Amino acid sequence: MTTDRLGVYIHIPFCASKCYYCDFCSTAAAKREKIDAYVYALLCEIREFAKAQKEKRWVDTLYFGGGTPTLLSLENFADILSCANDCFELLRDAEITAEANPKTADFEKLSGMRALGINRLSIGMQSVHDGELKALGRIHKFKDFEDFYADARRAGFDNISVDLMYGIPEQTMESFEASLDVLTALSPEHISSYCLKIEEGTRFYQKRETLILPDEDAVCDMYERMSDILGKSGYTKYEISNFAKHGRESRHNTKYWTCDEYIGFGSGAHSFVSGKRFANSRDIDAYIETDGAGTREGEEVISPSVAENEYIMLGMRLVRGVDIPKYEARFGKSFEEQFGKKLKKFCPEFVILSENNCKFTDKGMLVSNYILAQILDFS
Ligand code: SF4
Repeated sequence: MTTDRLGVYIHIPFCASKCYYCDFCSTAAAKREKIDAYVYALLCEIREFAKAQKEKRWVDTLYFGGGTPTLLSLENFADILSCANDCFELLRDAEITAEANPKTADFEKLSGMRALGINRLSIGMQSVHDGELKALGRIHKFKDFEDFYADARRAGFDNISVDLMYGIPEQTMESFEASLDVLTALSPEHISSYCLKIEEGTRFYQKRETLILPDEDAVCDMYERMSDILGKSGYTKYEISNFAKHGRESRHNTKYWTCDEYIGFGSGAHSFVSGKRFANSRDIDAYIETDGAGTREGEEVISPSVAENEYIMLGMRLVRGVDIPKYEARFGKSFEEQFGKKLKKFCPEFVILSENNCKFTDKGMLVSNYILAQILDFS
């Protein structure tokens, strides 16, 4: 059983230019006509999905991800939100997030987005050092981020998340601490951290032999230092990489970790609905040409055993861990009978098991993959 509230994800695969580390579904410097055509295809896909539902679904989170959604015009945002309002029962207190990048929207656009009902921004800062931003291939300097952040506050955004990276070429603990200090002084409501990974198909992958990256120990130290500094600055770590002030956890992203339903629209978007996982192809032109139809790939019906493993694996990413009564209601099994014996040997050093929750300790988080492999049945 899942909650009847659906999360909606809308993928905007356009960026001002391609960052050197990025393997997301996004393309650089698209013309306005192409963006408008893409939005038209999105509207078609949303309407087709809604038509196929027996009744309108309640939606409590809507997330514009990318790519760089702030490259959309205000008319694009208005069209998508009005379509979502027509096709779903969008709750009055729905969390509506847009990912945003500095230099891609001015105060006027941010004010317009806020007026349209977007109530949360997730801004890509990554670092406060211009040298590190340049090394990552970002188009902005730190001053651009500062101006953008100030504009967003002035435009009325009181729920802002900021992305921060570590493991950046030539980054040191001192430079990372400076990023953390400057960021916490700005006091965003939420911080998402990302450890740089060199992915195939990226510019970094091509020059991977020449990159000077912090080693594994240095990266682990950065993670621990970050947890410490953010904890002392009023942020609670609620997921391995995500930190929030009280009550400001991302409601949309939490759906991914609690295996709640979400529908993704747009090229490369993933969905989990009615016990099935599926994704759209990353081919943006094909998506536009077919008006958002016919690009769905690899539908997988999730078997009960896979669903159970996913529920435990994703739930254990949350610092609060797996909610045992919810697990039992969803799978009709006793958590104690399923995992109690296997987990006890990891308690209390690596795992804390109480009546209502099962969660990793900080030490357990570091060896989480090993423990999960011991307790879950992948046969
Ligand atoms: S702005 Fe984000 S999505 Fe766009 S290229 Fe850079 S990392 Fe990728």
